[in-house]
Amino acid sequence: MTVFETSKTKYAESRNSLAGGVSSSLRASMKPVPLYAASGKGSHIRDVDGNEYVDYMLAYGPLILGHAHDGLTESIIEAMRKGYTYGVQHEGEIELAQLLCEVLPCADKVSLSGSGTEAVMLALRLARAHTGRSKVIRFHGHYHGWSDAIFTSFPSADMKGHAVDNDSAVSPGTNGQSANSLSDVILLPWNDKAALESTLRTRHFEIAAVITEPVMCNSGCILPEEGYLELIRDLTKELGIVMIMDEVITGFRLGIGGAQERFGITPDLVTVGKALGGGIAISAVGGREAIMKLVDDGVVSHLGTLNGNGVSTAAAIATIRELRKDKGAAFSHMEGLTGTLVEGFRSLFKQHDVPGIINQIGPVFNVMFTEETEVRGFAAYNRRDSAKYARFAELMLDEGVLVRPNGLWYLSTAHSEADIEKTLSAIGAVLPKL
Ligand code: PLP
Repeated sequence: MTVFETSKTKYAESRNSLAGGVSSSLRASMKPVPLYAASGKGSHIRDVDGNEYVDYMLAYGPLILGHAHDGLTESIIEAMRKGYTYGVQHEGEIELAQLLCEVLPCADKVSLSGSGTEAVMLALRLARAHTGRSKVIRFHGHYHGWSDAIFTSFPSADMKGHAVDNDSAVSPGTNGQSANSLSDVILLPWNDKAALESTLRTRHFEIAAVITEPVMCNSGCILPEEGYLELIRDLTKELGIVMIMDEVITGFRLGIGGAQERFGITPDLVTVGKALGGGIAISAVGGREAIMKLVDDGVVSHLGTLNGNGVSTAAAIATIRELRKDKGAAFSHMEGLTGTLVEGFRSLFKQHDVPGIINQIGPVFNVMFTEETEVRGFAAYNRRDSAKYARFAELMLDEGVLVRPNGLWYLSTAHSEADIEKTLSAIGAVLPKL
């Protein structure tokens, strides 16, 4: 039986001074206790009780190169030796901006921020300033950060205390959020072409933007139906609405150019974060010249004390360089291993007669315990047995594998065949215990 005593003691101690005992609400849901990390290297993380795990949580996504990647660490240290942040400009910002414009299909120019939430805030502001309209269409089951203007209806069972909202009412995502802050949000079912088209055709004159995850990674890793992203693109273009692709998860994960490259759809604006910095806080908005010009001209304010700091830009440059090496071999490596893991997982579902579904794209997938034969919409996703999955995640810790309690798995370039073998045998040991 795995011992978590030190993590338990630390969590209790933490709660005396750190509100909630964690620094991001989602982390509190981990069972049997929010783990305390001692160190991480490559695909492995070690906790303060000395337990070691193959890590598929990857810090909720940023660690695309794994923990403490040698080259990335060197770049960060080198940057730090020259000063962390200056408040005046430095060459790293230019180099990173040029790189981002090179790899992100829609980016003529970029703006740098610190988190995905901030990137989305800027993208929405740009869309409103560009169109002179204020409403924003977003979709059930998508997550675009926790700012008041967009945080609603995040359905994850591991986000405690808030009911899943599956109708068109826009309810705040948390207590303390003004209901007025969401008065500009129009919430629609995703992958529903008719709902999108009728709303856009009847209300286009008041709609500034449609914001979408290109793959609904935050709720079941559900792929867009054929032609759906194309429809968003075509209608927004026709009606003068800004299409924002929120690639905070898919960016630098589904390929160097993210989902826009993979699906061949070029939005007006893209938001990236997480994997961009390889674990160091940085995000970006990229977009068409005509929209980014609003920042150029000072018409739209883009602020942030630590934006574009030397450490974060060095981390992002090093991460992008690493991912571009050998014609993107990193992506083939991750996808190959993910394929083996997912196929093996599905076979184990069959072997142990456990009903389950796995939705996968690239090195990201979602595992659901469900009687459904497929999960291609938010309603089907909400019928999964999330309590059973949370139990599965807890039991996997005993087998030396760390996964998120909500079903989303990430692989990094550091994962190996040995990790996959170990993980499959862990799954084989846990499934019969559920
Ligand atoms: N957008 C998407 C699609 C996300 O998944 C997230 C975070 O999970 C965000 C935005 C917010 O990013 P951050 O947590 O860096 O603020």
